[in-house]
Amino acid sequence: MSNTINVTRSSLPDFEEFCGEIRDIWDSHWLTNMGEKHRRLEAELEKYLGVPYVALFTNGHLALEALIDAFSLQGEVITTPFTFASTTHAIVRRGCTPVFCDIDPESYTIDADRIEDLITERTSAILPVHVYGRLCDTEKIQAIAKKHGLKVIYDAAHAFGVFKNGVSSACFGDAAMFSFHATKVFNTIEGGAVCCPDKGLYDKMYMLKNFGIAGPEDVPFVGGNAKLNEFCAAMGLCNLRHLDGELEKRRLVHERYWERLSGVPGIRLAQPQAGVTPNYAYFPVVFDGYKDSRDQIFDRLAQNGIVARKYFYPLTNSFACYAGRPGFDPAQTPVARHIAGRVLTLPMYADLPQAEVDRICDLILD
Ligand SMILES: *Cc1c(COP(=O)(O)O)cnc(C)c1O
Repeated sequence: MSNTINVTRSSLPDFEEFCGEIRDIWDSHWLTNMGEKHRRLEAELEKYLGVPYVALFTNGHLALEALIDAFSLQGEVITTPFTFASTTHAIVRRGCTPVFCDIDPESYTIDADRIEDLITERTSAILPVHVYGRLCDTEKIQAIAKKHGLKVIYDAAHAFGVFKNGVSSACFGDAAMFSFHATKVFNTIEGGAVCCPDKGLYDKMYMLKNFGIAGPEDVPFVGGNAKLNEFCAAMGLCNLRHLDGELEKRRLVHERYWERLSGVPGIRLAQPQAGVTPNYAYFPVVFDGYKDSRDQIFDRLAQNGIVARKYFYPLTNSFACYAGRPGFDPAQTPVARHIAGRVLTLPMYADLPQAEVDRICDLILD
């Protein structure tokens, strides 16, 4: 099939617009190391997200690892297995132990009512994920964290442009991480950020992404290299100008899927969340008691040149790299296991034509 429809397609500005934006990079010969574009994008994101500090990174994953490092987290971190590999790997790679909490069957995010049972004297933090851009129960999680003296770090990789009663997803917890990977709603080709309310944390993130260097003769931290370069920042400056238009186009795609698939017995769609302005990042569908299984639908779409994604399957607590580790057991998170076996995210991007949405729905409804 010549024209495959992929699950996503990266947003790009006009070629001329990008060329215009990178002109000053040529003139200045300043390619990376927190240059003009880097600082301007941080400032524009702070404004858009309504958050005091945005620290840009090479990607979301290294931003998350740097955060765990900055808070000196140790011991156990309560998190969800219904996420991308990055969340769990970041915890493990920074020397902590993930403790898997089951998810809420409606929001697909961590089930806040189950968190307290998992807290031990070794727990240092909670690391929830706003899955598909659906917000966690941030109030309940904050109350639990306060009561037990735990840090809260949000993996907000899916939730850029999501607001709850006018407050952006960047503003919850002690800090939030975004990914600006090519496949996300807002991209800098590769990129990511830490958002936080605190200048001290911003300064620490600045050093951690630059080898822990504070000054020419002063290296107070064992940092890595995770600086967003000027070309990626320039892409971000361009894409940010078009974000509202892209979100509106995504909304129309979402609406068409919703018209065609809601109310079909055995097909469950993600219901809107009260007070939340969504970003239409993904269109997850749960096939539960439908005439065809998720895997049959996946195969039928693939045979017709349509790439959907079993997202998230497998759960991170059943990854081969963790086989045999205590606590990595999908049977302990039965709701997550149930959803992971039945969910499919359908193609979703701003320029997905309505005729293709209809073709996808026709194939699902057969
Ligand atoms: C994309 C993603 C990440 C990692 O972000 P990168 O920018 O690709 O490193 C982390 N968590 C979740 C949930 C993601 O979807």
